[in-house]
Amino acid sequence: MKQKLTLKQWCKKAEELEIALSKQYWKLETGQKYSKPKIKKYETKINKLAEYFLKNFDRPEILKDTCIGAVASTKTFQLSLKFKEERNKKIRSKKHTIKGNPVTWDTWRQYVTKATHNERKKIYDKFIKLTPLISPIIKEKFQKNKQIYKQYGTTPLKLYVKEHELTTKELIKIITTLRNQVKKPFQKQFKYYAKKLLHKKPEYYDDLYYVRNAIYQDMTKDFRGVDPIKHIKKTMKEMGLKPDKIRVDKKDRPKKYASPFCMAIKIPQDIRISFKPENPLNDANSIYHEMGHAIHFSSIKPQLPYWTRTIISNGLAETFSTFFEGILTDYDYMTEELKLDPKYSKEIIRRKNFMQLFGAAFYTGNSLFRIAYWRENLKFENCNKRYAKELKKSMGMKIPGAYWQLHHILPESMMYVPSYMLAEIQQNKIKTQLRKKYGKRWWKSKKAGKEVLNLMSKGTDSEAGDFSKLTKKDILNYVRSITTNP
Ligand SMILES: [Zn+2]
Repeated sequence: MKQKLTLKQWCKKAEELEIALSKQYWKLETGQKYSKPKIKKYETKINKLAEYFLKNFDRPEILKDTCIGAVASTKTFQLSLKFKEERNKKIRSKKHTIKGNPVTWDTWRQYVTKATHNERKKIYDKFIKLTPLISPIIKEKFQKNKQIYKQYGTTPLKLYVKEHELTTKELIKIITTLRNQVKKPFQKQFKYYAKKLLHKKPEYYDDLYYVRNAIYQDMTKDFRGVDPIKHIKKTMKEMGLKPDKIRVDKKDRPKKYASPFCMAIKIPQDIRISFKPENPLNDANSIYHEMGHAIHFSSIKPQLPYWTRTIISNGLAETFSTFFEGILTDYDYMTEELKLDPKYSKEIIRRKNFMQLFGAAFYTGNSLFRIAYWRENLKFENCNKRYAKELKKSMGMKIPGAYWQLHHILPESMMYVPSYMLAEIQQNKIKTQLRKKYGKRWWKSKKAGKEVLNLMSKGTDSEAGDFSKLTKKDILNYVRSITTNP
């Protein structure tokens, strides 16, 4: 860069590059033709721009912290890309096939929905056995990240807690309180549903992602008449929100990323969601979740400064996705809005509550594992052991420690996992207040919608982004909400 950039010029340039890059990412993750050289070119430019910022500006602080993260992620980007390719190439089994092709990491979740317990166990064990093939690249990625953050005197954990307006101690306290509250009810419910649906005891290979599908299998038929896109849009409109700007991609392409996701190409103007149809009920949950992200991003005021508009902490982002997904556990909403049978609705809510418990038990373990990695400077070689220990503490089950390397977030993201928990507690707090003010059917109230819009529209400055305000009472209220059945 020859002439010196002003902060305003810098922001304009940064956003243009981010838009071009996310358009390529969108193609990559939705299984369409993308350009590797373009990705590389934009990554290099973004990296240079972030380095330029760190050399020439030290305010705003939030932008500085984000630039550190950006430098780290662009410098490890080729590794991330290689990791995804290798995982799909190396984590595979010729013995097990789906539509005539060997089952790979990418098609694993689709495969297990129709497999027997024994087949599921075998492929789980096989993939666990294969993890050493991808370990070196995961290790390299974490070590490189560690080095880069260190150059700027920080770690991903330190930046993460700061972004959420917490201290590490406060974060550990929140997650540990939650862990202790959910462990017992989770174990009890897991036993009950494993017996009822799988006709056996819970085992290590009955993981969250399998159970999440299996648990609704006998209930999915009654949900077939519900068009989730139509309903969530209607609800959002009744709250005075504007969901029509959001683009939805539901095509099933072979290389399309298995998990549903929302991508913000440009905030607030170009927001998209993607998913692969799996099962009508799960799809509904995913669509409400991803539409929650999408409405959040598309509701942010366009006139806000670049950094306030675009830098959203993970916890804040998940607050609005879980907020909207959670509407599907509201008995009145299900029976009155979706016109579902009362008995059926009650059972779905019971099972959804169990999945919330499962999620909390699993993610508190994941979170405390990840926090320990940075806080205690864990050696990569000790990670599997520590992971097994944290899961045992949270779920009361013995699970192979190498499983974290097969997870879709843990090996890819440096922090992220606690965000779900923070978000769940936060969204429940918001809903409790809305219910108090606007009654049981708050989702029909434009005034309630206005309050949610107000929280969403402020970008980084949203009050919902301050997680230090969460109290023990808020955590207990959340646990009560997922242990009380209609
Ligand atoms: Zn999400």
